[in-house]
Amino acid sequence: MFHAPPRVLLGPGPSDVPARVLLAMAQPTIGHLDPAFLQLMDGVRDKLRTVFATNNAMTFACSGTGSAGMEAMLANLIEPGDKILIGVNGVFGGRMVDCASRCGAVVEKIERPWGQVFTQEEIIEAVDRTRPALVALVNAETSTGAHQPFSKELGEAIHSRGALLLMDCVTSLGGAPVKVDEWGVDAAFSGTQKCLSCPPGLSPMTFGPRAMERLDARKTKVQSWYLDVAMLKSYWGQERVYHHTAPINMLYALDEALNIALEEGLEARFARHRAMHELLREGLSQLGIGYVSQEGFSLPMLNAISIPEGADDLAVRKRLLTEYSIEIGAGLGAFKGKAWRIGLMGNSATKRNVALVLAALGEILGR
Ligand code: PLP
Repeated sequence: MFHAPPRVLLGPGPSDVPARVLLAMAQPTIGHLDPAFLQLMDGVRDKLRTVFATNNAMTFACSGTGSAGMEAMLANLIEPGDKILIGVNGVFGGRMVDCASRCGAVVEKIERPWGQVFTQEEIIEAVDRTRPALVALVNAETSTGAHQPFSKELGEAIHSRGALLLMDCVTSLGGAPVKVDEWGVDAAFSGTQKCLSCPPGLSPMTFGPRAMERLDARKTKVQSWYLDVAMLKSYWGQERVYHHTAPINMLYALDEALNIALEEGLEARFARHRAMHELLREGLSQLGIGYVSQEGFSLPMLNAISIPEGADDLAVRKRLLTEYSIEIGAGLGAFKGKAWRIGLMGNSATKRNVALVLAALGEILGR
């Protein structure tokens, strides 16, 4: 059997998985149409509605990681030739561009330098200029640590121009407020391995009434059979029609991860993420290390920080891993070799971990 080394996961995900979640996963696999399993699915769906702050009927956990969720959203909501406006200020906005163009969309981009966010005016001006059918934005850009604001006003402005609003909340769900209904988000997808502290493998997602209408009005078949939401709806809905074999034990895990999140309480969980972020920021500033994300718009759960002058990116990360068993993330894309990413997500967002990573970094950097 493979023996996983003990690690402190302080990278961009996965985060540390609580024992309760691992134990839930270790239970016997049962059939994907077993009444007991169907009951678990109903529970997962209700709990996901709570964490997404939505009443959307079509709320479920898509098989596959966050990227499968992204692909499912785009493949279902785009028909070839549709125009989509995507905010690109990091890797994941870029990934949506790639994914949407493979779905046959005419892609329009608004761009900001890495680490910065879009203003509401900028987004609305771009919608007026490009008249898209869909606007897609990343709430928590994991590659840059930037926290893109969403609001009721933004959602209304997008709807009044005839477009739908899609949100990537892979990194924010369960760690910062994600208010699907209040913000007028028509479709949102996430991942399990970040602030929900469940292993990777499922993508929680939700489709609102406008998005479902768009699906019903499609003239062409969704090009992905596996991710066709109309078919998945028949399995997750009351009909329980077999589509594909659900990843049974992964759903046990997600159910327990959601139990843990809701027992803590979402507001308390958000406050914990914010407090750990402040503690880390304070300690880093004492080490002379600052953030690469726009001031006032840093994500609480993902700290993208400048690599100090003279520090060897790879060597420092290697020492953190081999000497302290701590994983942190490297910079991606424009931030490669320039930034480190310290994740304080879900179960990993603790005082102990903040103290540990600060002490280890201080020691390695000789500060
Ligand atoms: N979107 C964002 C913002 C992410 O951070 C990630 C993963 O880090 C993804 C999408 C893709 O998710 P996954 O790696 O689980 O496929």
